Amino acid sequence: MKAKPSIFIIYTGGTIGMVKDEASGTLKPFDFEHLYAQIPELKKFNYNFQSFSFEHPIDSSEMKPEIWIQLVKVIEKNYSDFDGFVILHGSDTMAFTASAISFLIEDLNKPIIFTGSQLPIGVIRTDGKENFITAVEIAAAKYKGLPVVPEVGIYFEYKLLRGNRTHKFNAEHFKAFSSVNYPLLAEAGVDILYNKTAIHKPIKDKWPKFHKKLEPNVGVLKLFPGISRCFVENILNTENLKAIILETYGSGNALSDEWFIKALDKALNNNLIVLNVSQCRGGWVNQGKYTSSIKLAEIGVISGHDITTEAALAKLMYLLGNYKSLKTVKELLHRSIRGEMTVRL
Ligand code: ASP
Repeated sequence: MKAKPSIFIIYTGGTIGMVKDEASGTLKPFDFEHLYAQIPELKKFNYNFQSFSFEHPIDSSEMKPEIWIQLVKVIEKNYSDFDGFVILHGSDTMAFTASAISFLIEDLNKPIIFTGSQLPIGVIRTDGKENFITAVEIAAAKYKGLPVVPEVGIYFEYKLLRGNRTHKFNAEHFKAFSSVNYPLLAEAGVDILYNKTAIHKPIKDKWPKFHKKLEPNVGVLKLFPGISRCFVENILNTENLKAIILETYGSGNALSDEWFIKALDKALNNNLIVLNVSQCRGGWVNQGKYTSSIKLAEIGVISGHDITTEAALAKLMYLLGNYKSLKTVKELLHRSIRGEMTVRL
């Protein structure tokens, strides 16, 4: 007889479990029992469920690298006993957390599906029920004994996206996430249709590596017309800074003022890593396509190809936290290590 699927649920907080604070009228995180009680449908799955809840559930704006490490430890502890994991998380920073978990767990071969909602579970029109129920079904899905989605995904409003390709683009619509540069992993309608060619292939019988180090001294410098020398230099001179994501225009373009290139060049010579990520969500960085980006390539700015800022931040924290050699970190930045980018040569 086939064993019942077993799913481990981790509740971190977010709108899905929030209730209204009567005094202030604001939404605040509430406990997991309240949330679980609102979804009696889960009992209809003939699954074994176990859960872990943060002692103090958070709004995901409070998310920090230390909490990502805590999540990895909880997953590692329960990894062998469960077929899949569902992580309930606020939507605001879900793409960052999903990216971080994808880098921290190497050779993952079980589903880790993030979900949440735009309306709390106790509200009649909530999107939380469908999101939660379908995320559970995806986390449990198997084909010929192997998990259908052995990777980190985000399920929201009928769509499953690769976690480290995802970006929250809407604070109002139920369709809050997009993955412009990578296809959907699955779409839920009458059936859940899996896009098998886009999903990682399951790695059989390999125990994943659970990494527990992240380098927090990483930042983002977003370009804008009129950006001042003093502003750029102050950012580049931030104490202990190890890497920055340079959020450029279009296909990786930047101003060509001499002071700007010199400031970057100096920082690069002092071993700062500079990763070029476009402010555009679709398309990719192509240093050298325009004169306005050729200088960046010449001084050693690394192309982020079509990576999202969320995934780039998590990747830099992971690589700098786990590899001592700067040369290796740079090499790995040029490659896709968890399906986070498409490298066009
Ligand atoms: N502020 C909330 C959070 O990210 C928003 C949400 O969950 O949708 O925790």
